[in-house]
Amino acid sequence: MSTQPPALSHFQAATRVVIAPGRAAAALAVELPRVACARWCVVADRGLAENGGLDRLLRALPRDAAPVLELVGEDPDAETIGRLVAQARDRGSDAVIAIGGGSGLCAGKAVAIGLANPGPLAPHAGHDRLERPPAPCLAIPTTAGSGSEVSEVVILHQADGGPHLMIRGRGYAPRVAILDGEVMRTLPTRPMLLAALDALAHAYEALWSRGADRFTDAFAFSAARQLREALPPALDGDAAARQQLIEASAMANYACGNSELATVHAMSSAPEVHLPHGYQTGVLLPHVARRIADVLPAAVQAEIEALEPLYAKVGFVSRFAPGELDEAGLEAVARAGIENPLSSNDPRPPTFEELRTLLREAGAGDR
Ligand SMILES: [Zn+2]
Repeated sequence: MSTQPPALSHFQAATRVVIAPGRAAAALAVELPRVACARWCVVADRGLAENGGLDRLLRALPRDAAPVLELVGEDPDAETIGRLVAQARDRGSDAVIAIGGGSGLCAGKAVAIGLANPGPLAPHAGHDRLERPPAPCLAIPTTAGSGSEVSEVVILHQADGGPHLMIRGRGYAPRVAILDGEVMRTLPTRPMLLAALDALAHAYEALWSRGADRFTDAFAFSAARQLREALPPALDGDAAARQQLIEASAMANYACGNSELATVHAMSSAPEVHLPHGYQTGVLLPHVARRIADVLPAAVQAEIEALEPLYAKVGFVSRFAPGELDEAGLEAVARAGIENPLSSNDPRPPTFEELRTLLREAGAGDR
């Protein structure tokens, strides 16, 4: 709900979303034959394989239908993706099942890009830069946060710590996303909380980004409300709430993928800062929201007022712990907040000094 809508806005929801509470394995077996390809391969998070979750998801598939490639750790870089693409080609795969949190899904989507576009990925960074659309990709999120399963964006970290590579374009989103909250049953509460705070930031930034329109509002308001409702019981182990959370996370991404993100995500993009993405967005969201609340419509202000009680309920403090973000980190985050073009989507774009002040209020620079 922007106060200054652009002349043209858009809404695209390209991914087929399959709602499959407790039935992801069965849904996978039904969906795979619907996509024309020679052979699937699986790109997945290492943690999921280690706790047996990967075997449970693949149990309904015929043997050797989809070989599992090298497992993926946190924040995969372009080099890792290059290896995975080579492995997929060796096995005759031309389509990808991406399973995991943000890292596993991004890696799978990047492999789909690499299968259709030989050579290094870096030259494809930017918007609509691929020569050919990515190979078919089916995504199963195992956290409710990134919404990457319905997103046309792939973000890759660089091994040398340089700026993240973003590859984005029409037709780059997965063909199918299977949403099953049961895959989060064994997820510890901290990663579940941080992922959900990221989804919350996606929904809220979609509410006030300059690219917001009535379509994105429909998804963003619903996602914000459902994330708030579902997060506390989901953290307490409620199965229905887990399903609500994973659906709301995809909705939040449909909202922000069309409206665009804003200052919270601009500030969370500093490559020098290695705090978890969901933690950074979770800390920053209430501070950024307070800075702009007075220029936002009453309905969005009401959403902002609901943040503090939610944070209290889930025991999350919107303040960096002492020593967590030193002076250099503070400068890096403020600089990213200004230099990343996402901050221009802010209804009142910030100055560098305003961001430094905001960061001090959020505990940055405390020893
Ligand atoms: Zn995010």
